[in-house]
Amino acid sequence: MADTTQPVTMDTIVSLCRRRGFVFPSSEIYGGLGSTYDYGHYGVLTKNTIRSLWFRAMVQERDDIVALDSAIILNPSVWEASGHVAGFTDPLVDCRTCKLRFRADQLELASCGRKPSKRPGETPDCDLTEPRQFNLMFETHVGALQDESSLAYLRPETAQGIFINFKNVAQLARRKPPFGIAQVGKSFRNEITPGNFLFRVREFEQMEMEFFVPPGDATQWFGYWLDQRLDWHRSLGLRESNLRVREHDEGERSHYSSATSDIEYLYPIGWQELEGVANRGDYDLTQHTQSSGTKLEWIDPDGNRYTPHVIEPAVSIERIFVALLCDAYHEEVVGDRERVVLRLHPQVAPVKAAILPLVPRDEGMATRARALYEELRRHHVVEHDESGQIGRRYRRQDEIGTPWAFTVDEQTLEDETVTVRDRDSLAQERLPISGVRAWLDDALERDWSSPSSD
Ligand code: ATP
Repeated sequence: MADTTQPVTMDTIVSLCRRRGFVFPSSEIYGGLGSTYDYGHYGVLTKNTIRSLWFRAMVQERDDIVALDSAIILNPSVWEASGHVAGFTDPLVDCRTCKLRFRADQLELASCGRKPSKRPGETPDCDLTEPRQFNLMFETHVGALQDESSLAYLRPETAQGIFINFKNVAQLARRKPPFGIAQVGKSFRNEITPGNFLFRVREFEQMEMEFFVPPGDATQWFGYWLDQRLDWHRSLGLRESNLRVREHDEGERSHYSSATSDIEYLYPIGWQELEGVANRGDYDLTQHTQSSGTKLEWIDPDGNRYTPHVIEPAVSIERIFVALLCDAYHEEVVGDRERVVLRLHPQVAPVKAAILPLVPRDEGMATRARALYEELRRHHVVEHDESGQIGRRYRRQDEIGTPWAFTVDEQTLEDETVTVRDRDSLAQERLPISGVRAWLDDALERDWSSPSSD
């Protein structure tokens, strides 16, 4: 097996996603809508696994975190109090020559509208305006009237829905600090320069957790959550050499944050934020207490009142999705054939196993393969594929990252065994058909690390 992978580009990932139906440009038949995407079958399955692995680590396997699902459109006072109406802005510059708009703090990632493409501001022809602040919240109206009184916003983060429910959850879920509230859901930002596939989109699915702690413990919990989250990304199989932590300096941090670190991934566009971990202090609960008149505080058993401080790990499914595909993508020559293989962690792979009758016309093979498929699909996402040569079927599964294929062949008819083929090593072994379910359950629980060199 010879690895022939060139450095992975975003275009390679976009084309794989399109070819195999992971992701399509949205509204394509109407010419699209800049940087908006729709997810096809394998994309949905991959997003589901990312979401459920996050939920498992952040809620299901913990005693101290509960779940919440708040509304997307909240009372607009929430966004006044949180500071988003006044300050959720990015600096925008216009180019008077090419008429494009850019984020002033990310000019190095943008391309000028003129050919050959340059960075904005790089040529004497570029005529950039002074930066001005542009609010990223999408506006909408609630109810039949379209005036100032009905103005509302699509949420730009899920976090505020958590803060405004602090009292409900603390009382009803009978939790005391340190405890957390976790939420997964769509957020919307009218990004000035979306792009780089799913990396920066206007509509994305955030996974955020707000962890409420006694003020004196905030620094220690900040370190704890940074380590936990980095470990979680490693547990998805992302290679160590592609992950790093970058601490924000004082100028870069939000005014309310006393510490923020980004977990960065080495995307094809360079090191970029995958997940942010912030110490938000008591800013949010204090703001909502002042604006709403409802005290969002904690009273300990001795009657001492305090406003908990908050540690927030926040990440989007989209940024994980892109990192996973970039990390996993490989091209190889096997024998005299080329293959594209996604070396995804088996728990992340959209399809966990394929069931393949070697000769689909053979009734004995077809019946056994179908029965095995029907047994396995009650427990895992598996695929039954009977079309085309067996080699092509293997390659189709390699390309979507299916870790194992169970093939029903002539020998199955004699001794009720099947072959299991391993996506990464291509090793094949035989298993009794009756033991496949248990074998797959075990295999999915085994430790896994990328066989690709770092
Ligand atoms: P950036 O500096 O890249 O704009 P940010 O610091 O504004 O990001 P946060 O507000 O900290 O991002 O959002 C938390 C997480 O949400 C990010 O770490 C990222 O995973 C995700 N995220 C933010 N904006 C987008 C977007 N436009 N598209 C996809 N994911 C996003």
